Amino acid sequence: MSPSSASTDNGALGLSCADITHVVLSHPHCDHAGGLHLFPHAKLYAGADDLPYALWPHTAAFEGHFRREDIELTRGFDWHPLHGDHDVFGDGSVQILSTPGHRPGHQSLLLTMDNGPLILTGDAVHLQIGLTQILPSGWDWSTERAVRSIQRLRAVADALDAAVWVNHDPEDWARFGGEGEVKLP
Ligand SMILES: [Zn+2]
Repeated sequence: MSPSSASTDNGALGLSCADITHVVLSHPHCDHAGGLHLFPHAKLYAGADDLPYALWPHTAAFEGHFRREDIELTRGFDWHPLHGDHDVFGDGSVQILSTPGHRPGHQSLLLTMDNGPLILTGDAVHLQIGLTQILPSGWDWSTERAVRSIQRLRAVADALDAAVWVNHDPEDWARFGGEGEVKLP
């Protein structure tokens, strides 16, 4: 999809890119950061440590996880680097949860939906079994912090009785409805 066609093309939700006012980047890995340049008028939120890390990872082994062009195309955009949690609209409807470990500034989302709270994990954890058994991934930036973040997500989910969508878990995509309207189980 080209930027020009995307800016005018309404998708299944009836929204164009220009309708999107806020973009939360869980982390800048190439499978999560593509298309950021389609939102030049939005406020964009990233963990403060993550954009510099994407451009200069601490080990060359991680360089292939990032696509420099995706980040550089957003130079001059309205980026809001975060050093912790953030309540996007100030009403609790969209809360960014700092969940470092997978990347230094990794973020998850806590959404208040009409039918209940929903957590989007990003890559804080990759499968539901990783959540239930506290299994960090082998390519996390910090295993220790990843474990703490998984424990935090479990605690938040338990406290709020929130549904948790582990975003790389294919069974969760089927469970929550994938693209389009989200179904809470
Ligand atoms: Zn990732």
